[in-house]
Amino acid sequence: MSAPARQHRRALPEASSRRGWCPGLARPMPTGDGLLARVHPPLGVLTCDQARAVAEGARRFGNGHMDFTARANLQIRGVSDTTRRPLARLLETAGLGDVRTDGGPQRLTLTSPLAGCDSTERLDVPVLAHAIEAAGRAIPGLPAKTLVVVEGRPDVTLPDADCFVAASVADTVVIAAATTEGRRDFVTCGEHEAPPLVAALLAAFARTGHRRMRDLSDEELEALVETLHALRQAKDPPLKADRRRGSNTRDGKPFAPNAGLRTIAGHHVIAIDAPFGRCSAASLDRVVRMADVIGADAIRLSPTRGFVLRAAPGTDAAPLLAALADAFIVTPDDPRRGIDACTGAPGCASGSTPTLVDAARLADALRSLEMPPLAVHVSGCAKGCARPAPADLTLVGRAGLYGAIIGRAPGDEPALYLPIEAVLERLGRAKTVGLAAAFAPDTDSMVCGRTRRPA
Ligand code: SF4
Repeated sequence: MSAPARQHRRALPEASSRRGWCPGLARPMPTGDGLLARVHPPLGVLTCDQARAVAEGARRFGNGHMDFTARANLQIRGVSDTTRRPLARLLETAGLGDVRTDGGPQRLTLTSPLAGCDSTERLDVPVLAHAIEAAGRAIPGLPAKTLVVVEGRPDVTLPDADCFVAASVADTVVIAAATTEGRRDFVTCGEHEAPPLVAALLAAFARTGHRRMRDLSDEELEALVETLHALRQAKDPPLKADRRRGSNTRDGKPFAPNAGLRTIAGHHVIAIDAPFGRCSAASLDRVVRMADVIGADAIRLSPTRGFVLRAAPGTDAAPLLAALADAFIVTPDDPRRGIDACTGAPGCASGSTPTLVDAARLADALRSLEMPPLAVHVSGCAKGCARPAPADLTLVGRAGLYGAIIGRAPGDEPALYLPIEAVLERLGRAKTVGLAAAFAPDTDSMVCGRTRRPA
């Protein structure tokens, strides 16, 4: 793992005076509780000092709360026009400033939190990911959310992304892209050849003007494949050009460790997730203190929306996992792991329901009902910030009620509208009759006006 001390640093650029942008706060997003500042730690790895700086920034210049993203980044909430620049300076000083000023991705790659520490990896994942990051920074017009997953272990279920660089047979890597029909392998090559090939692929993608690789037409995809072929053939005969769907398994090992304690190569490894992807500055400070106590080499962000800490050899980390249980998810069967919730009311002005409070009530209900794992999304409004994708049960706030949507996404039409108490009551029924039947509109309640679309 490359030391964070070697992370990219930049001086404050001229463009920092432009309205709507400043370093460390690229395109700060307006939300109901102020601006949102995105922090993109290189490879998702923070030193203890950097983590302290993030906590301090959230406390002094935000509202003390942070979100985790599924790309293993952090968002500091509640930033204002007055505090955004001092926050940016604090992050810059900590080595967490922005790396590009053209609106392109501040962080291009996603790797497993334990990349570089896992003996089953067939690649030097951190070195490869850093090389792809460096190559990607030179590509103009790359959409801000472009994502390249780099994985060195075989048989791993890879997260959603635009492009994949994964270990293949005999010291080679396969470069693949997301399409509407699934992952498609483009080229197999040597590890050292991958960065320029990925850069060529991304540059060709940027020229199409699409935002996601899966939006490319068949003709555009063929053009990308030809670009890679041409590049390979300019040097050597192509090793392999495979236009079939990708071979990485969908039912393999998890990309990131589940919450809990495990031992890897003599190290205790703790994985903790933030309930509903939210964490306070005080909780992050606690994690940093624990990392110091167990001699953790770094604080690694996980796409499961949490942290992974690797203790020094021979250090018992089990007591510390128990000590963090009041603020974090520490077991893999915690029902909160299946629930996504946005800020909602009162934090977000677009929300009319207290989504985080109600999500906790739903988790308690699921725990006491001992129901099988359920994907639930509690959204303050139809925008669906926490999970644009479908869930088993999606609840969309409107005028203090929740629209219930079964198996679909927040933008879909709810079957009925209910107060949270009625949602909890129907959840109990779902254990015996199933979700769809439990949340079907019911004539009596329609007469009472409870299932009508609120004004
Ligand atoms: S989904 Fe709506 S209520 Fe929730 S954070 Fe986004 S805009 Fe706010």
